[in-house]
Amino acid sequence: MSDDATAHSSGAPAWSSALHPTHCAKCRATFLIPSNAGAPFCPNCFAARLEPIPQLERAAAPELILPFTVADATRDANLERWQRDIPFKARSLNLKELHARLTRVFLPMYLADASVWGTWSAQMGFDYLVASSEERYNSGQWVTQRINETRIRWETRAGEIARKYENVPAPALENHERVMAALGDGNALPFDTTRALGFSSDGLNNALVRMPDLTPKAATKSAQLEMERRAANECQIASGAQHHEQFSLRAAFGEPNWTLMLLPMYVTSYSDDNGKWIPLRVNGQTGFVSGEKRASMKVARRWALLLGAIALLAFLFTTFIALTSILVPPMVTVAVVLLCLTLALCLAAPAPLIIAWQYNRQNSSK
Ligand SMILES: [Zn+2]
Repeated sequence: MSDDATAHSSGAPAWSSALHPTHCAKCRATFLIPSNAGAPFCPNCFAARLEPIPQLERAAAPELILPFTVADATRDANLERWQRDIPFKARSLNLKELHARLTRVFLPMYLADASVWGTWSAQMGFDYLVASSEERYNSGQWVTQRINETRIRWETRAGEIARKYENVPAPALENHERVMAALGDGNALPFDTTRALGFSSDGLNNALVRMPDLTPKAATKSAQLEMERRAANECQIASGAQHHEQFSLRAAFGEPNWTLMLLPMYVTSYSDDNGKWIPLRVNGQTGFVSGEKRASMKVARRWALLLGAIALLAFLFTTFIALTSILVPPMVTVAVVLLCLTLALCLAAPAPLIIAWQYNRQNSSK
């Protein structure tokens, strides 16, 4: 593990001297951005542009980086599929514009190394087979069928543990859980971290880097819980058991050493009827897309007005044909058909508004 996490004096940590520290005045998120990035919208809230700040709080240097590995074609196909079922899309909601606003962002996650020593106890479960037989009446005769059933024998086990755990993941962002869930359909960690590479500044390749807003101290509890989970699994394997429950660890945790892993995410956005940007997030490894789906009431209104205008024209034409039928009686039939059409158009005119309103209501309650 690199110990580049030491203090810095030039406004940014030493590992990122080519990047500029910025923050979002709206959501307080901090980022390191490359000098050619200008003043981009905050990729966290999309409600303000990032502003330069003199310096960042002390930040641990990344140890590992997960590169962007999803193919561009897969990412674009997923974006296209994501927006396909939205009725009456806002003008800015199309693949070309989503693509133009696509930004690469690395998200931080802590990695903790720590020693654990102490005692443990648990109920360990051992599988065993029970053979029994069952009598079945089949085709006019009794048949004996042998059945093998797996059952679990529970035994109390206890022991000592002295382990050193390395690269235990822990959240570095307050909204870590929500962002991870959004990037992988509810998964706690929707990335294959075994594909991580040793960090180098070149690996950033002009992406924005979100900086932690949790201190390592605030992430300690989460790291300890993960170590406890790993310890429980190791004790289960050491006991030769297949299951465990009521695992209890009375242990001391050595002072952990913290570094960061950077996780790849694309963000893009589209604008709603009030000009508010709605963010879309794309997992930079799997291409999984998530974001709030909204139909545009403005576009729906335009369609409703168009249908209304056609209904009005149809009504005027119907009136004209009805008047003609005074002179040419057979035209009455045509007038009646046209009247039915006009009524259908009148009924259909508000449909776009109803569809869009209902779609937004359904998606906001999700
Ligand atoms: Zn923000």
